[in-house]
Amino acid sequence: MRITDPNYIDRNELEFDITLRPRRFDEFVGQKKIVENLRVFVQAALKRGEALDHVLFYGPPGLGKTTLAYILSHELGVSIKTTSGPIIERPADLAGIITNLNEGDILFIDEIHRLPRTVEEYLYSAMEDFRIDIVIDKGPSAQSIKLSLPPFTLVGATTRAGMITSPLFARFGISMRLDYYDFEEIRSIVLRSAKILGVEVTPEGASEIAKRSRGTPRIANRLLRRVRDFAEVKGNGIIDLKIAKYALDMLEVDEEGLDDMDKRILKSIIEKFNGGPVGIKTLSISVGEDIETIEEVYEPYLIRKGFIKRTPRGRVATAKAYEHMKLYGNVKTLF
Ligand code: ADP
Repeated sequence: MRITDPNYIDRNELEFDITLRPRRFDEFVGQKKIVENLRVFVQAALKRGEALDHVLFYGPPGLGKTTLAYILSHELGVSIKTTSGPIIERPADLAGIITNLNEGDILFIDEIHRLPRTVEEYLYSAMEDFRIDIVIDKGPSAQSIKLSLPPFTLVGATTRAGMITSPLFARFGISMRLDYYDFEEIRSIVLRSAKILGVEVTPEGASEIAKRSRGTPRIANRLLRRVRDFAEVKGNGIIDLKIAKYALDMLEVDEEGLDDMDKRILKSIIEKFNGGPVGIKTLSISVGEDIETIEEVYEPYLIRKGFIKRTPRGRVATAKAYEHMKLYGNVKTLF
């Protein structure tokens, strides 16, 4: 597992994820606009005694989409059932889940862009009219009956907003894009998590972890736990600047939060493709990582940090990338 892969969660980590997950808006750090708006929508729904409108969260992995879905259920005082796009194979699977919801409950579908088309179409009337067709019996005596559902709230999450079809997108009353967190926000997440885990961390130690966390809470929490291991074994248990630097270097996460794959991507664009532009397919073969992961995980961060640019003809390495990688050989072709 790559330490900076925000998609990956092992069983061990899942436990921590649950411990560290904020339960209320007040505990949720950052994403101010989103939280502010959600507070209003929740209050309005509570005031009217209605189910909250369907909500779509999109943005890179590990930024808090699932966390927000759980917070909504706590703030609304309703139950939440969670599932994910690829798990629901047939409309009947979805019917089984939906018919078990009570009024106002939340159905959370992660990776909603991966719902099979038949299931997605089945979801339309459930979202819009709170009605579904159910087929009873099999063969010639099969009958389809319309079933009314108690109003519920669908919360969908996706890392690939572009893959959501427009009919599905149109059925969400609220859609919100989560962005990477800034340094101060990640720093306070590190401090908050350290407190919950009972780890002593100095302000400089927390800053060093925050700096290398790719603006992603899931990675910040993971780095904190790994650095804690180093602090316990190689130090006195306290995470200070020295041990944080040492541990993060050992974990091969550099000062900009780049890991081995990021560097391979930059090196490849610069050395093999003369700085670009290079198409995603070619790049994917060149670095040995699948297209989806490059587009979803690596590229958004590299773009945000100004290491690469996306042009209509492909990806281009910026001057910052040459500098960071200490590769100046082809720099004149760029400028
Ligand atoms: P996503 O669903 O977007 O992949 P999650 O909601 O699972 O991300 O978040 C990953 C972890 O990061 C959570 O378990 C939680 O501990 C932490 N986290 C996410 N957002 C925040 C936040 N705003 N404040 C504090 N911790 C957060």
